[in-house]
Amino acid sequence: MAQILDGKLVRDRIKGECAPRVARLIGKAGRPPGLAIVLVGDDAASAVYVRGKTTTAEELGIRHETITRDASLSTEELLAIIAGLNARKDIDGILVQLPLPSHIDTQKALLTVLPEKDVDGIHPCNIGLLSVGRPGPRPCTPSGVIELLKHYEIPIGGRNAVVVGRSDIVGKPMAMLLLQENATVTVCHSRTRDLKAVCRNAEILVAAIGRAAMLGEEHIAPGAVVIDVGVNRVGSRAEAERIFEAPRLALFDKLGSLLVGDVHPGAMARLASAYTPVPGGVGPLTIAMLMRNTIEAAERRLGVVSSGVVC
Ligand code: NDP
Repeated sequence: MAQILDGKLVRDRIKGECAPRVARLIGKAGRPPGLAIVLVGDDAASAVYVRGKTTTAEELGIRHETITRDASLSTEELLAIIAGLNARKDIDGILVQLPLPSHIDTQKALLTVLPEKDVDGIHPCNIGLLSVGRPGPRPCTPSGVIELLKHYEIPIGGRNAVVVGRSDIVGKPMAMLLLQENATVTVCHSRTRDLKAVCRNAEILVAAIGRAAMLGEEHIAPGAVVIDVGVNRVGSRAEAERIFEAPRLALFDKLGSLLVGDVHPGAMARLASAYTPVPGGVGPLTIAMLMRNTIEAAERRLGVVSSGVVC
């Protein structure tokens, strides 16, 4: 029977560790951490993600504000908003919610966030720190995966890890973090030849693709640990029949759609020794790691801990 890696459990532990740090900051520096979220456009999923972030910040006593602009905002206007937040003393963390509308220069926007306020950990300076193993904010989703593996005492060092996906926010930093933990890492993408064979070599398989249940039985070595980062909404009955077994299919019929990861849930449950469910696996950790990054940014900026960061 495969072990289910419960992201909510680990999220709650991380949140439990955050609360006293916020209290300590207030005691020592006279104010809580400050987080600003910039939300541009009317992407429904982004609005849900932002709500999740602000609710958690609220719970932990992190001061937060959301700057909302409609999709017609220009790149220059967005850069001006970010520059304003960069200059504010009471803001420790700035998060530009992605995706931005297509006419906005996303790279320019992300580069404009001060590295010390980049609580998403995706500014090239912070990615550079990650690649040379120096302290700094780490990208939230991949660092959440490492937390999860460590929480469940799953060995990483020396094991073959395969990451499917090479995005700047998930796949690449995931590979770097696994490498830092001494795994032997292979990164796959849409041009990888014989993906099945490469994946079957994985003792730890991380899927960050964005394609519903794309990896199946032929991709999973028996006994592998499978981390499914993907979040995909399945809305068609035919697709649901391919993916879900009876109880979930009944739920699909009731709700009209369901979330699924990048790995076929049945295949994962049958073959893996341990796996993250979707939802409830990696997802909950992303917000928890964002809160931790925000608190750490405030601790560094307010001199409560020594910085160590070079950017
Ligand atoms: P991107 O679209 O930026 O990257 C997808 C990657 O998958 C690319 O590197 C792409 O390769 C690769 N890929 C696409 N098709 C194939 C294929 N057929 N075979 C092999 N590789 C393929 O996505 P993200 O990294 O941003 O997100 C990945 C998934 O993770 C999404 O479902 C997203 O919703 C989810 N996610 C979940 C989070 C959470 O908190 N749980 C947080 C962030 C993301 P190439 O580079 O060659 O195009």
